[in-house]
Amino acid sequence: MKYEHFIEVDRCKGCGLCIDVCPKKVLGISEAVNTKGYFPVYQARPKDCVYCSTCCIMCPDVAISITETEDSGKTAERE
Ligand code: SF4
Ligand code: SF4
Repeated sequence: MKYEHFIEVDRCKGCGLCIDVCPKKVLGISEAVNTKGYFPVYQARPKDCVYCSTCCIMCPDVAISITETEDSGKTAERE
């Protein structure tokens, strides 16, 4: 199973809590502001993410989520 780590940029207020708790130091603060005027978090080192969900649990604004995706080896079946 593959996973996708998604940050909803416009929910983020740039508090940095998720950056502090990430065991792999994946996250960083963006240099571009979001629609609320905050500098949001982005994945500075996405390849290091182990999908542990710690950042999702920590975020008070529920701005980060991890979803399961289909295995890339699968092919679509047609009837
Ligand atoms: S899922 Fe875990 S490793 Fe990935 S960014 Fe969040 S805290 Fe870091
Ligand atoms: S904890 Fe949530 S609101 Fe705070 S910087 Fe991380 S994603 Fe943004």
